[in-house]
Formats: sequence, C-alpha cells, structure tokens
Amino acid sequence: MTALKNWGISLEEIPLEGLKVEFSELTDLGEEIKVAEPFTGFFYLKKLGIDVEVIGYLKGSIILDCDRCLSTYIFKIEKKWSIELKPIKTLNLEEEKELKEDEMEVNFYENNWISFLDLLKEEIYLSIPYKKLCKEDCKGICPICGTNLNEVECECKVTKKETPFAVLKELFQNLKKGG
Ligand SMILES: [Zn+2]
Ligand SMILES: [Zn+2]
Repeated sequence: MTALKNWGISLEEIPLEGLKVEFSELTDLGEEIKVAEPFTGFFYLKKLGIDVEVIGYLKGSIILDCDRCLSTYIFKIEKKWSIELKPIKTLNLEEEKELKEDEMEVNFYENNWISFLDLLKEEIYLSIPYKKLCKEDCKGICPICGTNLNEVECECKVTKKETPFAVLKELFQNLKKGG
C-alpha cells in the first residue's frame, strides 16, 4: 500500500459539519514502524476557522525491541486522542508561550493538506514508552555470557548491582573513617 503516503485530505474537502474518516487493516506504516496487528480506527475532522480539530481513535499493535533483553515483543496500542492543527505559516506569528499554555496538543499542517499517515504515525510514536520492556520484570541478558535470563539461568556469578544509595552510604562511611 504505497498510496498511504498520499493518504490525507485537503482543507477544502472538509465540509462545515465535519468529516469522519474510518480506516482498517493498515499494515504498512513505513519502515520505522513494524506492525504486528493491523491498525483500525477513525479520524473526525472539524474546521474551526483556519484551524482543524482532529479527534482520533486507533487500535493495533507493533513490534518493539526490549531495551533490557533485546528480544522483540508485541506492544498493543489503543488510544483516543485529540489534536488541534494549525497552518504552519502561523507558527512564527504565535507566541511560543501561548502554545505551551494551550492545553490541547497542537500540530501544524502545510499547503492546506492534512496527512492522515503523519497523524497516525505521530500518535503511534507518542504511545511508545521511553523505556521499552518486554515485561515489567524482564531479567535482561547476562553481561558475561549473553544468556537471556528470562529463558534460562546461567552459571555466571554476577555481583549484585549496588543501588546509588548504598554506594553513597559506603562513601560516607569511608569518609568518616578517614577523618
Ligand atoms: Zn526483555
Ligand atoms: Zn551468564
């Protein structure tokens, strides 16, 4: 589905009463997003002067790499969101402060064109957690032999990582001894 790149709408095409666009079975969202379960959902677009309010819903899943054990896992996404789109030419006119105070998420469109693919990708990126873990208590890989410790325990003796607090405490005690 290479046509997705051109999947979008021009401003003139959005009727005054608003427009609902439904989508389903989206599997190809570009190279950066590996889709596991195809995405379904909808956009609801409404013009507010030169701005466009978008309310969206999406559901699907993607494949991520665990930061700790490096194996791939399936990450489910289901979310509703809303965003206000402004023409990019107003970007310089708007006070930056004003943008920050605005409670609604704001993004920009260019050349009177709204790309549905970009909207969708943006929301998927925003869903991906900062720390990607295949499961909350992922044991990671052994730094010595590289075994995935979720699958099997290895024989290597790894000294327990000190917490920053324990390290500080030790340092403090040594200082006291020294003084
Ligand atoms: Zn993991
Ligand atoms: Zn090991």
